[in-house]
Amino acid sequence: MNKNSSNIMALAPNTSNKRETVCIFGTGDFGRALGHKMIQSGYRVVFGSRNPQTSSLIPKDAEVLSHAEAAQKAAIIIIAIQRQHYNFLIPLAEILHGKVLVDVSNNLKINEYPESNAEYLAQLVPGAKVVKAFNTVSAWALQSGTLDASRQVFVCGDDMKAKQMVMDIVRALGLTPSDQGSLLAAQEIENYPLQLFPMWKFPILFSLGLTAFFFFYCLIRDVIYPYVYENTDFSFFIAISIPNRICPVLALILLALVYLPGVLAAIIQLYRGTKYHRFPDWLDKWMLCRKQLGLVALAFASLHVLYTLVIPIRYFVRWKMSSQIISQALNNKTAPLNNTYAWLSDSYVALGILGYFLFVLLGITSLPSVSNNVNWREFRFVQSKLGYVTLILCTAHTLVYGGNRFLSPSSYRWYLPNAYMLSLIVPCIVLVVKFVLIFPCLDKPLTRIRQGWERNPQYSE
Ligand code: NAP
Repeated sequence: MNKNSSNIMALAPNTSNKRETVCIFGTGDFGRALGHKMIQSGYRVVFGSRNPQTSSLIPKDAEVLSHAEAAQKAAIIIIAIQRQHYNFLIPLAEILHGKVLVDVSNNLKINEYPESNAEYLAQLVPGAKVVKAFNTVSAWALQSGTLDASRQVFVCGDDMKAKQMVMDIVRALGLTPSDQGSLLAAQEIENYPLQLFPMWKFPILFSLGLTAFFFFYCLIRDVIYPYVYENTDFSFFIAISIPNRICPVLALILLALVYLPGVLAAIIQLYRGTKYHRFPDWLDKWMLCRKQLGLVALAFASLHVLYTLVIPIRYFVRWKMSSQIISQALNNKTAPLNNTYAWLSDSYVALGILGYFLFVLLGITSLPSVSNNVNWREFRFVQSKLGYVTLILCTAHTLVYGGNRFLSPSSYRWYLPNAYMLSLIVPCIVLVVKFVLIFPCLDKPLTRIRQGWERNPQYSE
């Protein structure tokens, strides 16, 4: 609701002819780009610089003055200068008294200084009202107008009125302000641009580790074993056959790992009899990256679909089929239709298609543009109920694929079962525990605990 209204405000036409004057200290890349955007949005811009001369780089309608002169012309001053040069502001403290100083700075390392740059600025110029903003917007995006991915501007500050003035500018530039609270939030805001896919780290590293494990596992079973025992060179399996074994295995395990923390959380809550006690850190972190785990799982499932589609055009497959036909012709014998096998084959393909369809649906609903348009109940329905149906279908797809091969000795090479058999362990555990948890004797107390009831109040913090 808020988001929509701020978007509407951002799109609202500028009714006044000219907005107020804004001062920008620093004629570097960011100062110029922001100045250019502000002039476009109807603001008067005056730059404060060590060299108060205009150049071809400075936006045409802007004035360039000394810092002291420029500061006197505006109530809001944007400090587009690196933190290490902030000392030059100390002699200007008197002129800056009562002004709104906007700190846009970033650091080179996470938590580089004990206090945030904005708090440091507030200490240097105690009479000014410091607001942190714009640090997550790049000069390049401002100048080129490609702000689609980074429309959100995080704003924080101790003075409500000053913060409001800055948020009005943000909206006037066609961006969306996001109020992060007091200046204490500045350190976190300054760390945002330095984070590298924080939520993706664990899912990616974990799936890379699993991929490596299953690659060597399949290499031993499908390439080294036949070479040692049958002197057959199946090394070409590395190109398609092995990836097509690894992808579904990873998709299924990662999908099960999306639902495992929820099941563990339910067990912990039932055991403690309260929801007012923090989960262990590892479980909290795991829960926070479930969406990313699910999307990586979807990527593996999609690769499995692609690899499966090319099976009929593979030389090895065509060679195998034609040699079977020739051997039947030479023996003058046609293999009879095996109805059981036909049923198993069609069922596992059908389960795979349905499972993949729901998997894609889950992926689509996790996209912010879609999830923002469904309410909490709808989102939970899709992600939880449909998610479990997807897990059931994909697990059934694998089980039926195994068919009667689970107990066949030929499925075990050097006592190693097929990779798909290993992939069934986690999903089966999740599904069995979830099934047990929906029994009323467990579901009812769990629902009450989640509604705030406490069995053991000594656990609450
Ligand atoms: P820049 O191109 O190096 O410009 C910095 C400006 O600071 C200089 O042009 C200079 O302006 C002024 N300056 C340099 N040394 C000074 C000193 N000793 N005393 C006073 N002023 C001095 O840097 P920038 O990329 O524009 O970045 C400016 C700030 O914006 C930084 O804090 C940065 O973290 C932040 N920021 C940048 C971006 C980006 O995409 N570039 C994005 C978000 C935030 P004058 O010559 O006019 O005095």
